[in-house]
Amino acid sequence: MVEFFYHKSCKILQEKLVEDWRAPRMSTEEKRKKVKGLLNIIQPCHHVLEVSFPLKRDNGDYEMITGYRAQHSQHRLPCKGGIRYSDEVNIDEVKALSALMTFKCACVDVPFGGAKAGVKINPRKYSDNELEKITRRFTLELAKKGFIGPGIDVPAPDMGTGEREMAWIADTYASTIGYNDINSHACVTGKPINQGGIHGRVSATGRGVFHGLENFLNEASYMSMIGTTPGMGGKSVIIQGFGNVGLHTARYLHRAGATVIGIMEYDGSIVNPTGIDPKELEDYKLQHGTIVGFPGAQPYTGECLLYENCDILVPAAIEKVINKHNAHRIQAKIIAEAANGPTTPAADKILIERNILVIPDLYINAGGVTVSYFEWLKNLNHVSYGRLTFKYERESNHHLLESVQQSLERRFGRVGGAIPITPSESFQKRISGASEKDIVHSGLDYSMERSAKAIMRTAMKYNLGIDLRSAAYVNSVEKIFQTYREAGLTFT
Ligand code: NAD
Repeated sequence: MVEFFYHKSCKILQEKLVEDWRAPRMSTEEKRKKVKGLLNIIQPCHHVLEVSFPLKRDNGDYEMITGYRAQHSQHRLPCKGGIRYSDEVNIDEVKALSALMTFKCACVDVPFGGAKAGVKINPRKYSDNELEKITRRFTLELAKKGFIGPGIDVPAPDMGTGEREMAWIADTYASTIGYNDINSHACVTGKPINQGGIHGRVSATGRGVFHGLENFLNEASYMSMIGTTPGMGGKSVIIQGFGNVGLHTARYLHRAGATVIGIMEYDGSIVNPTGIDPKELEDYKLQHGTIVGFPGAQPYTGECLLYENCDILVPAAIEKVINKHNAHRIQAKIIAEAANGPTTPAADKILIERNILVIPDLYINAGGVTVSYFEWLKNLNHVSYGRLTFKYERESNHHLLESVQQSLERRFGRVGGAIPITPSESFQKRISGASEKDIVHSGLDYSMERSAKAIMRTAMKYNLGIDLRSAAYVNSVEKIFQTYREAGLTFT
């Protein structure tokens, strides 16, 4: 799928890359060959590792565990991409997801190559003790082959993994191969705060999905193209998957005034036309381990919630859920691809023909990798954001207010007492300087906005209409191409 979308963007871009190649002594034919050669370098996955190791289960049984890590491209280092625990994992999926990571990083200007890992287990079927053993052993296998390290390859959470697994990975790396590396904790992101994590990472992908939607929903031209009104308020939302990404997407959309009318999980779906409260549902799921039976909604009894009428559909679970067999049944006006690869190429074509706006995965779920980048920088800097300037900024702001007060008093006198200077509510909130969370949120918001504008410009430039995926791929491929070209890459 990723290869298909990559080729589609190459077709759009190729001739322009030839035209733009400034080399007066080179013939057009030579340039064309070079462009083709460089584009061929970008396509395949450059390094793939498959490992198998034994696990002694709690009941004494032995089992072989298989895992993969693919580094799609090292045009920028380190490589970056999540680790997934799922019994659906296979080598082709891991390779495809690593390629997607290359294009995703380039899309939001995160200077990393793409990677991905998968361990072929269903984490629900293993105890915490077994999961810890698997995670630590997998980390060692990666370390032995140069597939993990702060400067070479930095994993992150994905389906079936979270902060806990990232903490085990950081600890294993730091206490083995990374024992004398001061930057060892930068070998993985998505860690808990006390292990060198960053505020805002857990919710970053969902927050990014919200910003991504906001950027397009506020663009009247796009909304009129798909026959709807701008703005988030009152828009109905259906979400597939209530894990990390689905939950936080629901929270931010709900907070912005959208109505979450349906949520699908692997073991059942729930609906409420007046809105499901994501926080209450989160508490219920934590307590019961499922969304089924949630008292704030009704069980869904129809065929499939994906086909129900809504403004925004958010697949936030697994791949290929929208395919050629069901794309014609989707009634949503906008699809926000919070999951990686939820739409197959055949479905993508059908959706565009049906005038449904698909905001593609490589852009809309890039909030996670963007904040992972901030976490990695924090680890290399060995200081949290804002720590050095926090007090200075607060004092400067108080001095500023005092200075304004003194100027006014010098001009108008103090008849009737001191002239009160009261900061506005929004200034009062910022008076103490930006906390780490403020900086992360604003950095993420800025990245999502800048990339959305770039995608819109490219869509216009190449006359792509609502085909935002091609526009996003074109932007990414152009950036990666320039990196390879400027590195003076020779063909050996
Ligand atoms: P997660 O494991 O926290 O949540 C996934 C949820 O989907 C689970 O609750 C699971 O029960 C549910 N699910 C699984 N199969 C389903 C099905 N057939 N129907 C309905 N629900 C189903 O994983 P996550 O981290 O939220 O990731 C979800 C998707 O988002 C994946 O495609 C992942 O690659 C992508 N993604 C995640 C991040 C991140 O930071 N975690 C970043 C970018 C993209």
